[in-house]
Amino acid sequence: MIDSFKHKGLRSRLVDSLVEKGIADEKLLAAMRKVPRHLFIENALDDAAYEDRPLPIAENQTISQPYTVAYQTSLLQIKKGHKVLEIGTGSGYQCAILCEMQAKVFTIETHRNLYIQAQRVLAELDYAPTMRCGDGSIGWEEHAAFDRILVTAACPSIPDPLKKQLAIGGKLVLPVGTADMQEMCLVTRKSGQEWEIKRLDKFRFVPLTGKNGFKF
Ligand code: SAH
Repeated sequence: MIDSFKHKGLRSRLVDSLVEKGIADEKLLAAMRKVPRHLFIENALDDAAYEDRPLPIAENQTISQPYTVAYQTSLLQIKKGHKVLEIGTGSGYQCAILCEMQAKVFTIETHRNLYIQAQRVLAELDYAPTMRCGDGSIGWEEHAAFDRILVTAACPSIPDPLKKQLAIGGKLVLPVGTADMQEMCLVTRKSGQEWEIKRLDKFRFVPLTGKNGFKF
């Protein structure tokens, strides 16, 4: 797997552009400067890997736009050792960023194909998240509570199990809305029965499927 000077140069420029767009978390920016995004997409798209846009991956899914990855990750305020659940492994890129930030990452993907592919590239890059193929819309009860939960697919509403699997003081970041347009939500668990919900900018993600996802 080659990470050439050209890739590194383009990646550095991309991260500079994220700084200009207001991303300020230094640990996140360092992780984005390091993780080779081009290795998470097919070779034919190599030239576009360091443009700030989403790209297609298998199963009609997408690797999120770098700005979106940065936006969601900034909201999470990741600290070393945080137990983080990601729903929607997809290419594995967002997972790699979380691992690079020294979180203890758990990630779930519904498509077996993507799960296997992501497992391969993450292992090659020496990242060791705990991975599962299945329905992430119900969370991952046996590993709860999580300090942080991140959903990288559009949710019709905030799935109840995800709220309940947050540690007290924990944060959940997820796009909520219709299949066409969502608002980023930042949910903070204040106590056993109290969650604060902030609604932020608009985005467009691929839909979450499964028990608490969209029914098509
Ligand atoms: N974080 C990914 C983005 C992938 S797009 C990346 O960095 O590449 C969202 C992913 O969510 C898709 O791969 C889709 O298959 C997956 N997904 C959708 N519904 C899901 C569910 N219920 N459980 C787990 N994964 C799901």
